[in-house]
Amino acid sequence: MMRDIKVAFGGVKALDGVDVDINEREIIALMGPNGAGKSTILKALFGIYNTNAGIIKLRGNIIHPVPHEIVHLGISFVPQGRQIFKSLTVRENLEMGGVIIKNKKAVDERIEEVIDIFPALRIKLNHKSGSLSGGQQQMLAIGRGLMTDPKLLLLDEPSLGLSPKMVKEVFMKVKEINEKRGTAIVVVEHNIKSILTIVNRAYLLDKGKIIKVDTPDNLISSGILEKVFMGHYKE
Ligand code: ADP
Ligand code: MG
Repeated sequence: MMRDIKVAFGGVKALDGVDVDINEREIIALMGPNGAGKSTILKALFGIYNTNAGIIKLRGNIIHPVPHEIVHLGISFVPQGRQIFKSLTVRENLEMGGVIIKNKKAVDERIEEVIDIFPALRIKLNHKSGSLSGGQQQMLAIGRGLMTDPKLLLLDEPSLGLSPKMVKEVFMKVKEINEKRGTAIVVVEHNIKSILTIVNRAYLLDKGKIIKVDTPDNLISSGILEKVFMGHYKE
């Protein structure tokens, strides 16, 4: 839960008093034009950016997120642009995701579980991850985020640069992770039509403020999406 979160860079207000609730086992989307503040919400939640005001609570307790501590609290972040280590193998990337796990056997077990979700990665385990397709690299980035078995997964633009077919596949996986593992997921997306088919609720942002929170059906029927994106949003 985030209340009245403010983040500014110099004089620029990236977030201007934002409230976000994430319930257990829920998928929510953060949508809005470029520069609206979507990534900043994820980064504030993960402790990459400091907040200038507001509180963040996890299961009722106020927290002050710092990335290496927040993973221990069950939160994982998959950044925009994937940020996998291309010169390392798929296995090595997954191991990086599991660095906080002390015992080697437990890391191997987690890799098995991740590969159960993304079977296409199995035959690629010892390949350099730079050799994977864009879709496979995104699967790997998400898989790396799952290594700590998070309760909450933060995904920033997972569909970026992928073909429509791959986008669909990635979103199916996101849904599957949510349903099978009960992982709560916050996904930032510009691919509004597709993401609305898998989320419970969506937050619509503009210029650092939340202008609407609703179910996908209500957002679509209200016509507000067109209004917000018109003039800002370039296909
Ligand atoms: P979105 O993800 O919705 O496209 P962001 O959250 O990345 O938007 O950015 C929101 C605003 O904050 C933008 O005006 C952006 O330029 C600014 N911003 C984000 N990160 C930084 C940063 N590290 N330094 C300066 N300005 C930033
Ligand atoms: Mg962004």
